[in-house]
Amino acid sequence: MENILTSYDPVNGNRIGEVEISTPDQIRKKVALAHKAATEWRNLGLTGRLTLLENAWAGAEPHISELAELISREMGKDIQRSSGEASGTVYGGPYIAKEAWDALQPKSVEGRTTIEYGPLGVAAVISPWNYPLAMANNLIVPALMAGNPVVFKPSEETPLVADLFVEILNRVLPRHLLQIVHGDGEQGRALVESRVNLIAFTGSRAVGKDIMARAAGQVKRLVMELGGNDPMIVLADADIGSAAGFAVASSFENAGQMCTSTERIYVDEQIADQFEARVTAMASRYKTGPWNMPGVNIGPIVNKKQHAKIIDHIRDAETKGARVLLGGSGQTVPYIQPTVIADMTPDMVMEQEETFGPVVAMSKFKTVDEAVERANDSPYGLGAVVFGQKEARAVAEQLEAGMIGINQGVGGGGNAPWVGAKQSGFGFHGSPDGHRQFAQVRVVSH
Ligand code: NAD
Repeated sequence: MENILTSYDPVNGNRIGEVEISTPDQIRKKVALAHKAATEWRNLGLTGRLTLLENAWAGAEPHISELAELISREMGKDIQRSSGEASGTVYGGPYIAKEAWDALQPKSVEGRTTIEYGPLGVAAVISPWNYPLAMANNLIVPALMAGNPVVFKPSEETPLVADLFVEILNRVLPRHLLQIVHGDGEQGRALVESRVNLIAFTGSRAVGKDIMARAAGQVKRLVMELGGNDPMIVLADADIGSAAGFAVASSFENAGQMCTSTERIYVDEQIADQFEARVTAMASRYKTGPWNMPGVNIGPIVNKKQHAKIIDHIRDAETKGARVLLGGSGQTVPYIQPTVIADMTPDMVMEQEETFGPVVAMSKFKTVDEAVERANDSPYGLGAVVFGQKEARAVAEQLEAGMIGINQGVGGGGNAPWVGAKQSGFGFHGSPDGHRQFAQVRVVSH
């Protein structure tokens, strides 16, 4: 039926369930109802909102394993990872809410001015499928805490888990505070163009650009967490074992379907042979398979289109002279066997675009300047990593990225923000600065 969105198991293409696609009229009506819910929600104040969100998220605790299984079934990641995501979402909700509570407290300046953080209006939250609950949670919680009712559009790949989560939260939340609309880009565009005041988006750079263009007419507020093509530099004095371990784990995490996956690795030519051998040996121990098979650490690719894109990127590298050390382009849906490629060159698509698959892509460099130049030669700037000793800190200083890891992955401790540079987005979440972007700053002098 035309207005039905079916969720399929990526392992075998079997139907899991379906939801109704929202019509333009339904989207408009939900946004109107959200505006009506705004006054009561704002008047609850920060503490009232915090209490309600804590209760709503606590209500999801008994459902963690159900949510985890649905994540796995809809997008394919193994059950341990889905369980981590589901419990992180449920227990992380109140944690984010409390952080926002702290960040949004009014501030008095010289005793005669108060800086307040009030609501912006109605927020559209549009999220991707790769971490279907966590990514949505990171935007929904700060939006609600700032006093904004939310109309949430999950990815068309993961509608069922989003539906269940919202249904559970709505057992506690006031009516029309958190509503869901379903569909793909068409419904996303309708939501962006509706009477929403803030669009909080996590997804690809291409869609981010489209949202920005559509939001421009009414200068809608934007929080944009976009794609990445993260580089890793391995210096001559790096610990080869730990650098290789990180390279493989970070390239294969979530079947490579992670915004901060390592996508391009530049290795000093003095250690390149050893590094390639270690990476290939480690990569060959990874196992593909369905989410509930013990020992599996690379699940299926989410859909045929994404699978074809990864194969195209690998084939392009092969055609242009890359050496395939493991795996390669001769693979069929739904899996991509762990793939290791050496001798990448800047003209290869994989070097320029986000591949989003379980591929380790390496090339050698002669000078550190050359490595930095290639690492920075990208429109993206989400994360970047450098492994090494003496010069690692100096190299890190030169990397154009929002999050940089030295001898470790990206992502800060405590309430550091999750933030991209360049075309990986602007506006971010986490941290006091991040939470305040979901609010209207008001300067009241008296
Ligand atoms: P996507 O951009 O294709 O889709 C994201 C969401 O936008 C979906 O809900 C989709 O239906 C909707 N959408 C599509 N077209 C739209 C339009 N024109 N207007 C409004 N909404 C529209 O991304 P995806 O394939 O779901 O997710 C993968 C991408 O997300 C990758 O690029 C990845 O790097 C990125 N990502 C970034 C972060 C981050 O924190 N920066 C985190 C996770 C994923």
